[in-house]
Amino acid sequence: MTTQTKGTALITGASSGIGAIYAERLARRGHDLILVARNRERLTELARRLTDATGRSVQVFPADLSEPADLAKVEDLLRTDRSITVLVNNAGFGAATPLLQSDVARMSEMISLNVNALTRLTYAAVPGLVERGNGTVINIASIVAVAPELLNGVYGGSKAYVLAFTRSLQHELADKGVRVQAVLPGATATEFWDVLGHPVSNLPPAWVMSAADMVDAALAGLDQGEVFTVPALPDAGDWSAYEDARQKLMPNLSHSQPASRYGVAKA
Ligand code: NAP
Repeated sequence: MTTQTKGTALITGASSGIGAIYAERLARRGHDLILVARNRERLTELARRLTDATGRSVQVFPADLSEPADLAKVEDLLRTDRSITVLVNNAGFGAATPLLQSDVARMSEMISLNVNALTRLTYAAVPGLVERGNGTVINIASIVAVAPELLNGVYGGSKAYVLAFTRSLQHELADKGVRVQAVLPGATATEFWDVLGHPVSNLPPAWVMSAADMVDAALAGLDQGEVFTVPALPDAGDWSAYEDARQKLMPNLSHSQPASRYGVAKA
């Protein structure tokens, strides 16, 4: 049991699945915790269990992050609690339906949680982390960030946002003492799949990782200095090749003339 704190980790979506494992692992690494999700009972039960097991201070903060008033309270906490050193933006939900079978109100709710809440919480946390020259932001994206054809397009788009936002944050914060990481889990055995209406038991077991293995790999990736962690990807060189292809585009993405293949005559 570590007695000296490594600062407080605020974890969203900590009441189940990936977030609950992050809570357990970060407490064992010596962090005090603030656990955020809607389900107060589950958070309280987890907090009791983790306090007993680790001796860390664990605070529960029930909030619906798609509700502006609740979100503002969590933002306020991130701005004012100077003990916070880690933010895990994990709360989120998905869908598997195509546009023609999807309810646009549910899609908006998804954007408000997966994109808007993650953005506002990051904006609330980062200035303090920069000021203290110490901190880590872990954003839970998904493999659908690079493979949006697999599930619902708004879900894929929301996670592509998380990837792009994290990439930009890394660029902006690399020299300011703040670490950022985007985690891109593949199928992970959690209630996520029940929420989107396809229990994980319907998937081929060979595709599905346990939440514990996923989080352990993601934390190992963080320790190894990765900005992008794809826990299932066997060859890290494949991600580097993807990044190299993106970099190769960079010098040619903006020119005064359209490319000649479009046959647009010069004015
Ligand atoms: P999960 O077990 O369903 O956990 C989702 C968490 O988000 C729960 O703690 C839930 O708690 C919380 N949450 C949902 N709506 C919320 C709201 N409006 N306000 C606050 N908290 C809310 O699923 P999970 O797999 O652990 O998901 C965690 C993250 O991993 C998500 O961002 C998901 O997109 C991502 N991910 C999952 C998979 C997968 O296959 N499981 C793959 C790639 C990425 P309450 O219900 O108590 O609010």
